[in-house]
Amino acid sequence: MYIKNYSEFQCIIPPFIHSSSDADNRGSKIWSASFRLDQDVRHLFPYINATLDDAVYYENPEHIRLLFDGYRCFLYPDLTVAHFFESKKAAKSFIVGFIDFLNDIHNQKENIRPNYDQIKQIPIIDILRILPKTNCKECGYLSCMAFAAAIMKGTEAANKCPSLASPISENAVYPIFDNQGNIVNSVSLQINTSKLKNRIQEQHELILMLEASLFANKENEKQEDSHQVAEKNDFGLTNREIEVLKLISEGYTNNEISSFLFISPHTVKSHMINIFNKLSVNDRTQAAVLATRNEIL
Ligand code: SF4
Repeated sequence: MYIKNYSEFQCIIPPFIHSSSDADNRGSKIWSASFRLDQDVRHLFPYINATLDDAVYYENPEHIRLLFDGYRCFLYPDLTVAHFFESKKAAKSFIVGFIDFLNDIHNQKENIRPNYDQIKQIPIIDILRILPKTNCKECGYLSCMAFAAAIMKGTEAANKCPSLASPISENAVYPIFDNQGNIVNSVSLQINTSKLKNRIQEQHELILMLEASLFANKENEKQEDSHQVAEKNDFGLTNREIEVLKLISEGYTNNEISSFLFISPHTVKSHMINIFNKLSVNDRTQAAVLATRNEIL
């Protein structure tokens, strides 16, 4: 067993409960208990943080806040404060269960992936300084002060205030692995997000520019294609008819065209009739002039 006992047990009525009516509002639960463990348990904090959904692991002073058996508990390396108990007996029974829980965590460490994410407690007045102090309630809190208190406790994310400016840096937690690939520790590094955001913005603008120029190129290509199709289809001549028309323009006779293109004079004649019909002309000269004017050749 890792933790065998505790000492310096105290049960007190918390100072913020001043009167019997305060106590009544909390039912009969009025006692706060504090006790000192016979072991330093700070190495269990990342494992507790990973195990309990509502655990919050603070950096300075190093401690972990959690809910155990329905009681709010603040666990420091060797000191525990918990509340609210209906009696001193209930507080003592809580301690026994809680020590069992810590011993279980200690025994199960190999099977738990530790969570080293820690919250740094910032003085509430510093948090309040970065809030707009308009008490607009858009964050869901009655005032900026209440919202600042929630951020300080780690129960709320600062970006819930829509008027909050972007941070200039963020903490990134990197895992450190042992040879077996288990996480044994972590390092928290500051990332300058303003530089990152600028770079992302630049890249975003570059992508937009490239997209716009790609779109413009595609539109140009489309226009050129349709222009070419239109030119070709102006008269609907086939490639062979264009070849024949070219030879006509150069003054060759039907027989010469026939021998140049290895086709019969009859086929040449048939091509010529088609050409005249498509160009709406009556003779070779008109066909040649029209072909030159319209840059068909
Ligand atoms: S949304 Fe921001 S400005 Fe409004 S009350 Fe909350 S913290 Fe204050």
